[in-house]
Amino acid sequence: MNTVQLKRGMEKAYANGQLNIERDDLSDDTFLKDGEIVRVTDHFGRLIGIAMISFEQKTAGWILSDREEAIDRDFIAAKIEAAIGARGPLFNQEDTNAFRLFNEIGDGLGGLTVDYYDNHLLVTFYSRGIYKIRDLIIKELMVRLKPDSITEQTRFSADGRMQIENRRVSGNVEFPITVLESGQRFFVHLEDGPMTRLFLDQRETRRSLMKNQTGGRTFLNLFAYSGTFSISAALGGMATTSVDLANRTKELVTDNFNTNNLPLDAHRIYIMETFEFLKYAARNNHSYDTILIDPPSFSRYKKKVFKVDRDYPKLIIEALKVLDWGGTLILSQNLETGTLNQFKKQIGTTLEKAGRSYTIKDAKGLPKDFVTVKGYKKGKYLKVVTMRVD
Ligand code: SAH
Repeated sequence: MNTVQLKRGMEKAYANGQLNIERDDLSDDTFLKDGEIVRVTDHFGRLIGIAMISFEQKTAGWILSDREEAIDRDFIAAKIEAAIGARGPLFNQEDTNAFRLFNEIGDGLGGLTVDYYDNHLLVTFYSRGIYKIRDLIIKELMVRLKPDSITEQTRFSADGRMQIENRRVSGNVEFPITVLESGQRFFVHLEDGPMTRLFLDQRETRRSLMKNQTGGRTFLNLFAYSGTFSISAALGGMATTSVDLANRTKELVTDNFNTNNLPLDAHRIYIMETFEFLKYAARNNHSYDTILIDPPSFSRYKKKVFKVDRDYPKLIIEALKVLDWGGTLILSQNLETGTLNQFKKQIGTTLEKAGRSYTIKDAKGLPKDFVTVKGYKKGKYLKVVTMRVD
């Protein structure tokens, strides 16, 4: 087994639990190969842990164990078994059959996620390193879960670009299928690009919309995609408006309404760019008592770039123009860098500048199946803040 040393002084963060090995922390990574198991030591040769090398952007790999032990078939199998065991309560729910089954380093293996959609699995490999043990992982999932189908997705970067591919590994299935979440039905397609039509990490947001404790009547869903938030709000008794610039949204949202037996009469779908829609809505005196904003971290429209960290304040300011007095804003941020507190602060500063007062009603991160570890800060990428604005 090869040994790789950390640069002097870099061991501190690792002693505090850091598990993602940053390329810059290593004294020399030129001899390392994707998938290789190595000993990582500090500058003096003291063991930090046993790691799997897998180069992804800045990351060089993951510490998988803090002691001398073999990272072999049994080790990997035990991680998968533990992850399945920890989801026992989710498997036993009658009204939900879609959730995250394995969440990267939070479940002990960086670069791997497995999503469970009513016994159809989506296995995502984020690096060539972890892909080296793909056969082992797939076989273990087959034996333990006997899934109806497995689709694998690889997200490897080449020439600085992310290349995403989906491949059926086993099973006969015609996508889309429908799954259940808190009693709602959603279409899911596992072979249609990077997105599956259902983002599992927003389960709690949908559940609270469905409960509609604020008594909302009109709901605006920005960056709506397949409209899952609109379904929850509609089930909660709200009239919904879904906005997205992609044409596919019309069909995806309509399908989700239909499969929930919700008549579309009280619901609208606009295929428009968000800022253009907000201008149009303000001009036509449309207003809403609940607005949800869930933008992608990055997007491009007519050569204009949208970056979530930079442009969120502008989004809030424009949305305020069509929010009823005393209305509810639900702001979701998908960003690996930054904390929930930083996001709250950004929101606070924006609302204060706009001369509005607000009360935070709720602030959430990821649901429990998206288990994270203290040593991997980027794991806490989702923040959802709900507030009343006066
Ligand atoms: N909120 C959705 C997920 C959004 S995915 C859900 O929970 O299901 C991001 C969506 O934003 C995509 O559908 C994309 O088409 C849309 N999008 C990206 N930039 C946009 C823009 N400037 N205006 C409107 N929609 C945009």
